[in-house]
Amino acid sequence: MRHIAIVGSGPAGYYTAEAAIKQWGDQVHIDVFDRLPVPFGLIRTGVAPDHQSIKGVSKRYEATAGTDNVRFVGNVTIGKDVTIAELQDLYDAVILATGAPNDRPLGLPGEQLANVFGSAAFVGWYNGHPMFADLDPALSHDTAVIIGNGNVALDVARILAKAQSEFHGSDIVSHALSALDGSRIRRIVILGRRGPHQIAMTPKELGELAHLTRARPQVDPADLPDAALDEALDPGLRKSVNHLRAFAAATGGADTDDAIDIEFDFFAAPRAIIGEDRVEEIEVERTRLEDGKAVGTGETYRIPAGLVVACIGYQTSRIPDVPFDDRNGRFANEDGRIAPGLYCVGWARRGPTGTIGTNRPDGFSIIEKIAEDMPEPAGKPGRAGFEALAQARAIDYVKFTDWKKIEQAEIANARDGSPREKFVAVDRMIEAAGKDIS
Ligand code: NAP
Repeated sequence: MRHIAIVGSGPAGYYTAEAAIKQWGDQVHIDVFDRLPVPFGLIRTGVAPDHQSIKGVSKRYEATAGTDNVRFVGNVTIGKDVTIAELQDLYDAVILATGAPNDRPLGLPGEQLANVFGSAAFVGWYNGHPMFADLDPALSHDTAVIIGNGNVALDVARILAKAQSEFHGSDIVSHALSALDGSRIRRIVILGRRGPHQIAMTPKELGELAHLTRARPQVDPADLPDAALDEALDPGLRKSVNHLRAFAAATGGADTDDAIDIEFDFFAAPRAIIGEDRVEEIEVERTRLEDGKAVGTGETYRIPAGLVVACIGYQTSRIPDVPFDDRNGRFANEDGRIAPGLYCVGWARRGPTGTIGTNRPDGFSIIEKIAEDMPEPAGKPGRAGFEALAQARAIDYVKFTDWKKIEQAEIANARDGSPREKFVAVDRMIEAAGKDIS
C-alpha cells in the first residue's frame, strides 16, 4: 500500500486525491488534512457567496472524499499539531495543497489604519471564515476604495453594491448580510494601476455589474485605448474591454434614489493611506504605461474614503521547516518538488493564479511526478501510524462523517432562500459534529 498525506482540502487537495486514485487504484491510501473542521477550502470561504453554481464543483470532491481510499482529517494544523517531519515519517509522500490564504501587503504608509483590509480578510468576513468572522468593517462612510483590477476586486465591489434582495439564494453569512443592510456606501472606486487593456477581470464577472439593481458602473472614455487596438487582445480580454466600453458609453445604469456608483479609476496607483486612527483618504498617483509597466507621472490626488479593500493577490502560509520562496510568496519548489517525499500543488506551488479548474491538471501532474520519483511504496505506516500519533497526542480530529453532521446543521439553520447558514466559529463546528469542545 502507498500512503499519501495531502495538506489542504480545497480544490488542489481533492483534485490531487482524485489523480492518486486514478494512478494507483486500491493500492493507495490518502489522508486529506485541514486546519479547519470543514473541507473544501476556497470553495467554501473564497468563492463569492452569490456564485453558488461555481460552488457546485464540491460535489465532485465529495465523490472523491467518499471513496474508501480517501479520509478527511479535519481540525489538525500541520506544523503545529503535527510536524512536517512527523508526516514524512508516516507517509510515502506529503503534498502541500494549502493554497494562498494570506493577503499580500500593499507596502504603503497608513496600511495599518482601521478599516483598511486585504481581500482575504474582507472576503473571509462575508464568507464566514472563522479567522475573519469578527472583522466588523465599518460601512458608514459613503465611499469605499477597492485596489486592484482582478476578479476579486469585482467580487468585493458586487457584494458591496448588491441590494438585500439580490442575496437571495446566496450563502452570505447573516452577520455580513445585516451589516450590508445598514451600509451607507454609495460610491465604490476601483483603482487600477494600469489601464483597461491590462485588467485581469473576466467578462462574465465584469458583465454582472451591469445587471445589478443599484449599480452604476462608470468608465472615463478618455482612459480607453483606441478601439482598433482591441483587435490584438485575447478574445476573453477583448470581451471584458467591450464591457468597459459599454460602461463608458452608458448614460446611467441603475436609476434609483439609492444608486451606487462604481467608478473604474485607471492609471491610478495608490501611494498612501491617510487618517488619524481610521482611514479617511487615500492618496493616488496618476500613472502612464511604459513597456507595459505603470510608471508614476508625479500628479497626485486624494480620494476621501472610509473603507479600503486591497485585492492585489495572496500568499501562502509558511509551515515550519518547509523552504519558502519569499519573492513569490509560495513554497520554494521546482515543478512541485520541494524535497524528497515533499511536494506542493495548486496556489501553494504556482501562486494565486488561474481558475478552480486549473488545479485539476496541476494535481494530475504532481501525481505523475511522485509515481516517477517513487515507483514502489517504501512500507511506511500511513494511517495506522497517524492513528497512534493522534491517540498519543489526544488529537480528536474531525472525520468526513463528522463534517456531514456539521453540514446538516448548517442546512437546517439556513434562512429562507439560502442553502446554508455557515458556522463561523470552530467551536460551534466541533459542537455540531457532536464532539467535545473542551
Ligand atoms: P489577480 O487576478 O492577480 O489581480 C490582482 C490585481 O491587483 C491586478 O490588477 C494587479 O495589477 C493589482 N495589483 C497587484 N499589486 C498591486 C499594487 N501593489 N498596487 C495596485 N495594484 C496592484 O488577483 P485576484 O483578483 O486576487 O484573483 C486571484 C485569482 O483568483 C485569479 O486567477 C482570479 O481570476 C481568480 N478568481 C476568479 C474568480 C471567478 O472566476 N469568478 C473570482 C475571484 C478570483 P497588475 O496587473 O498591474 O499587477
